[in-house]
Amino acid sequence: MIVGKLKEPAEIRAMIKGYDKVLVLGCDGCVTICQTGGAQEARVLARLLALDESGGSFSCQTVSRQCEWEFLKEIKDQVEQSQIVVSTACGIGVQAMNEYFPAIATVPALDTEFLGMPVEHGVFEERCQACGDCMLHLTGGICPVARCAKSLMNGPCGGSQDGKCEISPNILCAWQLIYDRLTQLGQLDRLLGIQEPKDWSLSRDGGLRRMAREDLILDDEE
Ligand code: SF4
Ligand code: SF4
Repeated sequence: MIVGKLKEPAEIRAMIKGYDKVLVLGCDGCVTICQTGGAQEARVLARLLALDESGGSFSCQTVSRQCEWEFLKEIKDQVEQSQIVVSTACGIGVQAMNEYFPAIATVPALDTEFLGMPVEHGVFEERCQACGDCMLHLTGGICPVARCAKSLMNGPCGGSQDGKCEISPNILCAWQLIYDRLTQLGQLDRLLGIQEPKDWSLSRDGGLRRMAREDLILDDEE
């Protein structure tokens, strides 16, 4: 899931300064699970913003997924009756809104942080950096790209202490975790292989990435 956190209200207020009709738009997807941008959070944010503004109108709506245009059709009327939209979705939702409703600005209420998962109630941790060339089968299902502070591919640096990463005693060393997991799986021999330099052109550094499923693309006649 995509994890984000709410911006400071003052920052959001600055974005909507001068607008009288504001729509706060939540998303039922990832941001609902991390409890930063779902229906309830959007409602609370709309009320909070309304408290501080004199005379403006603040409405609130939620869609199943802001990152898919097909769900945005449903809110056409509310968006067109607004002067600006404050989105509590991730950055993808904000961009989908701006592309689908180009006449109206949609601004972000969240800072999108990472791809992760809940590890305990209210705590989320990063698990993937979408590198485009997954190697979890080699590392016991533990991602060295996202979880090692140096994204090392061939074992630990010299700084690991008592299973903790040298950058913080609060972060587990990814390579200790990988070693322990491969031991558990009886696959320690995997560590004997040398990983060739990773093809980072598949990752973010190559610019905009696109994935096309030919079998799902509809012909114009369909
Ligand atoms: S190896 Fe790449 S794709 Fe796989 S979990 Fe790590 S960052 Fe994500
Ligand atoms: S201590 Fe472990 S997790 Fe931290 S940078 Fe070194 S190998 Fe990576």
